Amino acid sequence: MNWIDKQTKIIATLGPNSREYETIIELLKAGVSVFRLNFSHTTAEDAQVFIERIRQARKELNIPVAIMADIKGPALRLYGYSEELEIQKGDTLTIESRPPEGIETLVSEEPGRVFTNLPMITEISALGQRVLLMDGCVAGEVVGYEQNAIKVKIENAANLRPKAHLTIPNVNYPIPFLSEKDIKDIIFSVESEVEYLALSFVREATDVEEVRRLVARTKTKSGKRPATKLIAKIENAAGLNDAEAIIKAADGIMVARGDLGVEVAIEKVPIVQKELIKMGYLAAKPVITATQMLESMINSPMPTRAEASDVANAVFDSTSAVMLSGETAIGNYPVKVVETMAAIITQVEQRTCDKDHRLNGLLKTSSDDLQSILAQNAVTVAKDCNAKAIVVLTETGHAARLLSRLRPSVPVFAMMKDEMVYHQLAMNWGVFPFLLEESKDILDEIVVSTLKNLKEKGVLATGDRVVYLAGLPLSRRGTTNVIRVETVG
Ligand code: PEP
Repeated sequence: MNWIDKQTKIIATLGPNSREYETIIELLKAGVSVFRLNFSHTTAEDAQVFIERIRQARKELNIPVAIMADIKGPALRLYGYSEELEIQKGDTLTIESRPPEGIETLVSEEPGRVFTNLPMITEISALGQRVLLMDGCVAGEVVGYEQNAIKVKIENAANLRPKAHLTIPNVNYPIPFLSEKDIKDIIFSVESEVEYLALSFVREATDVEEVRRLVARTKTKSGKRPATKLIAKIENAAGLNDAEAIIKAADGIMVARGDLGVEVAIEKVPIVQKELIKMGYLAAKPVITATQMLESMINSPMPTRAEASDVANAVFDSTSAVMLSGETAIGNYPVKVVETMAAIITQVEQRTCDKDHRLNGLLKTSSDDLQSILAQNAVTVAKDCNAKAIVVLTETGHAARLLSRLRPSVPVFAMMKDEMVYHQLAMNWGVFPFLLEESKDILDEIVVSTLKNLKEKGVLATGDRVVYLAGLPLSRRGTTNVIRVETVG
C-alpha cells in the first residue's frame, strides 16, 4: 500500500511479535503511520531498541512515521502471584491494599489472597460493590472486609493472568495521576524526542496540564525545545465527564474502549465513541479509536464480520486513526492484520469521498479566526475548481490540522521544515507531510518544486489543479493569508 492511499491512519502497537526490523518495515509498507510503545509492558531498554528501529525504517522508506509512548498512568492491578491463578465461581478472593513500592515482586503466602496498588480499599468499596478483574472477564461483589482488604465473591471461573487489571466501577481512585515509573517513562520519552505521549486514565484537564509542565521542564537529547504532543486517553467516567476541558488541554484524544468498557456501562461505549470523535474533530485535534478492533486476528488470519464492521464504522464516524494493540504486539499475524485494516479503510473511503464541509453548520468560526476561515475557503476552492490536492505550508502543523478537521475529499500535502512536525502530522486524517529543504523561503520556488515533486511521485499529472494555502511572510507562525490555485505543467 502506498502511504498516501488512505486518509484514516493506522496505529500499530509494537511488542514481542513485531520487534524485528524486517517486520517493522513490512508493517509500514502495509499502511502503518504511527507506532505505539506500551509502557505497561515495555521497558525503557526495549523502547530504546524500538525507537532506533522505527527511526531507521522511516529513513529507509523516506516516509513520515510518528512514535507514541503510551504511559501506564493510575491503573489498578493485582499482584502477589507470578503464574496464572485459577479461580472458581463462588470462591472468595481477598484483595489487600499494599504500598506501590516493591509490590510487583511480592509473593502471597495465603491461597486466595492477592495484593493491589489501590490504597484504602476498604474505605472506597461498600458491601455489594461490583468488582471487575482482568478487563471485566471476571466479575464479583464485595461481601466482607479484613484489615486493609476486601473479600470478593467471584461470579465466574477464570484463570487470572499475573498483574491482572482491577476495576471498581464509578469510584475515583485515591492515587496520584503519575507514579514514579510514569515520570521516568515520560522523561525518557521526551528526552528521546518521541512525537506523542498517550496518557492513560486522564481524569481531568489538570492531569494533562501536569504532564505539559513536566514535558516543558525536560531537556531533549539533541538540545531542542521539547515538542512532544499529548494524547489524553478517555477511559473512565471522570475523564468522560471532563472531556471538553480535557480536549482543550490536550493535543488529541484516544477513545480507549478497553478500559472504558469496564469503567462505564459497555452499552454506552459506541455512543461515547461517536461523541468523542465529533468533539475531537471539531476542535481540530486527532482522535484515535482503540482496542479490540481486529482482536480475533491475534490467533486467526481473518477477522470476524463484526470486527470488520467495527473498523468501518469508526471510519464512517470520521475517526482520525484506528489503533491495533495485541493484534500487532503479540498476535500471530501482525502484518496481515494491518493489511486487513487498510483494505477495510480504503473500501469505506471510496464510498464516502464527498466529505467536504461535513462540518457545515457545526463549526462556529469567529471573524478573527483568519486561519480557520482561510482553511474553509481553501477546501471550497478545491471543490469548486475540481482540484486534485491541497498543499499547505505550515510551521507548526496547525494550518494542516485546520484543513484535516474539514475532512476534505482531496489529499492535504503539508510542507514544513521541522522534522518533529513532519512526523507528528502522520497521525492526522488526510494529511500527507513532506519536508522542505531549509533553504527554501520563497513561495514561488516552493510551488514549482512541490508540483515537480508530486508529479514525479505519480501523485499529480499534467493539467491537475492544486490549491495552495500559505502564510506570507513564510516561516512566521500563524500568518495563513494566501490561497492560490496552480495547474501542473
Ligand atoms: C484501552 O483501554 O482501550 C487502552 C488503549 O489502554 P491500555 O491498552 O493501555 O489498557
